Amino acid sequence: MMGCPVHTPIPECMLLYRQGRLDEAGELLFRNNPMTAVTSQVCDWEKFCYGHCVLNVKQMPVKWYEIEQEISGQYLEKVQLERRSQEFSGKRIAIVGAGPAGISAAMWLYEAGAEVVLYDANPRMGGVLRYGIPAFRLDKKHCDAFEKILADAGVEFHGGVQLGKDITVKELSASNDAVLLAIGAEEPATLNIPGEEKSVQALPFLKDPAAYKLGKKVIVIGGGNVAMDACRTAVRQGAETWVYYRKTFENMPANPMEVEEAKADGVQFKVFQAPVEVKEGGVVFRDCENVVPEDGGRVITRIIEGTDHFVECDTLLVAISEKPDPKLQEAAQGFKNVFSAGDFLTGPATVVEAVASAKAAINEMMNNL
Ligand SMILES: Cc1cc2nc3c(=O)[nH]c(=O)nc-3n(C[C@H](O)[C@H](O)[C@H](O)COP(=O)(O)OP(=O)(O)OC[C@H]3O[C@@H](n4cnc5c(N)ncnc54)[C@H](O)[C@@H]3O)c2cc1C
Repeated sequence: MMGCPVHTPIPECMLLYRQGRLDEAGELLFRNNPMTAVTSQVCDWEKFCYGHCVLNVKQMPVKWYEIEQEISGQYLEKVQLERRSQEFSGKRIAIVGAGPAGISAAMWLYEAGAEVVLYDANPRMGGVLRYGIPAFRLDKKHCDAFEKILADAGVEFHGGVQLGKDITVKELSASNDAVLLAIGAEEPATLNIPGEEKSVQALPFLKDPAAYKLGKKVIVIGGGNVAMDACRTAVRQGAETWVYYRKTFENMPANPMEVEEAKADGVQFKVFQAPVEVKEGGVVFRDCENVVPEDGGRVITRIIEGTDHFVECDTLLVAISEKPDPKLQEAAQGFKNVFSAGDFLTGPATVVEAVASAKAAINEMMNNL
């Protein structure tokens, strides 16, 4: 429980599960974490519940996430939001961003009595769950279920509305009791190398893979979850797909299971490779190596000069990292009733951490309204 960012009540739910009281267990999980049906599938369990299982020391850890998947998957179909408390009664709250953080906040705030209006630049709800993580890893039916739950409760949703263009923080702040910004971290980091304009960013590719003609050979640069989803999507489009990464496998920020899945899909990996120039028909890479500083400090990865080599490819997909929009971060400053949550607040993190951060933002709202 303590290893989970939302402190999932594992022992209580296990007991209910053993007694066959699945709906009660489902309700407990959902109230604590509206994304339970999703996080039980996409969390890095090693890092959270599985890795912190108390049986880890002498026995096999419990695969709690499998039980959670079973309970929460079936319960999601039955969820109905109810006004459960009066904490936000009479308060009008605008939420911008209908990803995991915004959706979770909308559900909790509705149940606490608020009139919630949800906006998103995309036409449908889900954020990265709908427009980033591929369907072979996460069924979009979960996003459909969240839409239905909120619509059934009468929560207003305005899709296709972009903050900073169609609406401003100032306007929202003036016309609502509170505003929650949960607009994620979508600004891609760039390689800053010559010829980069010939490359394709992984996030727009993942949003609509069919819109891209990848060609026969694809190189993906990066080692995080986005890189793994991009390479696994490319390989499904029939391309010979390689991941080139600057450091070692151990340094890859991706969930280790995702790296294994990518290998199983037929993606090939080359580590200790830094891109230095994108050219017509391929990329120039330079070898890297790990160096232990003389003072015994942290190992650093450095580029080895004079090792340039050209690697052919038809498409270069860049997935090195993302950050929140700095202009909108600045625009959110100075308003007492404007709060932030999810990746927009923390930088790129995980679904369960976005939920935890939405919970924290609501507590902050409660203390300040
Ligand atoms: C490809 C990919 C794979 C991932 N895989 C995993 C994984 O396996 N496990 C895991 O736990 N995490 C994973 N993550 C991370 C996880 O998805 C995010 O941490 C999480 O979605 C953050 O939730 P959020 O609600 O803060 O933001 P988001 O999910 O990004 O949602 C933000 C929403 O805000 C909207 N928005 C953005 N700008 C504006 C604007 N100006 N106006 C109006 N609306 C706007 C967007 O359209 C979007 O709907 C992955 C991320 C990516 C990109």
